[in-house]
Amino acid sequence: MLKISVLSILSIVGESLNINEELKIDNISVGRDAVKVNRPISIKGVFTNIGGNIFDFEGSVSTGLNLFCDRCMCDVDYEMDFSVSERFSSGFDECSDEEIKKINGHVVDLTDIVLEGIVINIPMKVLCDPKCKGLCSKCGANLNKISCECDTTNIDPRFEVLKDFFNNN
Ligand SMILES: [Zn+2]
Ligand SMILES: [Zn+2]
Repeated sequence: MLKISVLSILSIVGESLNINEELKIDNISVGRDAVKVNRPISIKGVFTNIGGNIFDFEGSVSTGLNLFCDRCMCDVDYEMDFSVSERFSSGFDECSDEEIKKINGHVVDLTDIVLEGIVINIPMKVLCDPKCKGLCSKCGANLNKISCECDTTNIDPRFEVLKDFFNNN
C-alpha cells in the first residue's frame, strides 16, 4: 500500500510536499495474467496544496516488468517510466468534479493509481532485440540460439495468411 499523509501541507495553501516512495510487489494482475515485477516500483513527485482543499500531484513512476518477447517468447526485462498527474480533494461536499479524487482526512492512497498506470503502459508487443530471429515455424527452435535444418524458404507469408483464412472459415 502506498499511503501518503499530506498533513504537513493540509492547511497551508501554496505549500508543497515532495515524496520519494517505493512499493514492493511481486506480481501485477493484467487481465487474467500475472506479470512479474522485477524491481520495487519507484514513485517520486510533489503534492501541492492549491487551495479549496485541493491537492495536485505531479510525479513519475518507474519499474521493471518481466515481459515476453513477441517473436521468441524469451524473458524481457522491460523498463517502464511514466508520469502521473492527479488531483485530490479533502473537502466532502463542495467538490463534484469527477476528475478530482476524494481523500479521507489527510491520507492519499496512490496504490490504485500507480498499479492502473502500469497496466495501461504495458506495450502490446515487446522484442528481446530488434533483430530477434524468433522461432522456426516448423520445428519451434529458437533461431537466435541455433540454426535448424528446416526448409522454410518457400513459404510465402501471403499464402500463410490465406491458409489461416480458409482454416478459420
Ligand atoms: Zn526474441
Ligand atoms: Zn526448424
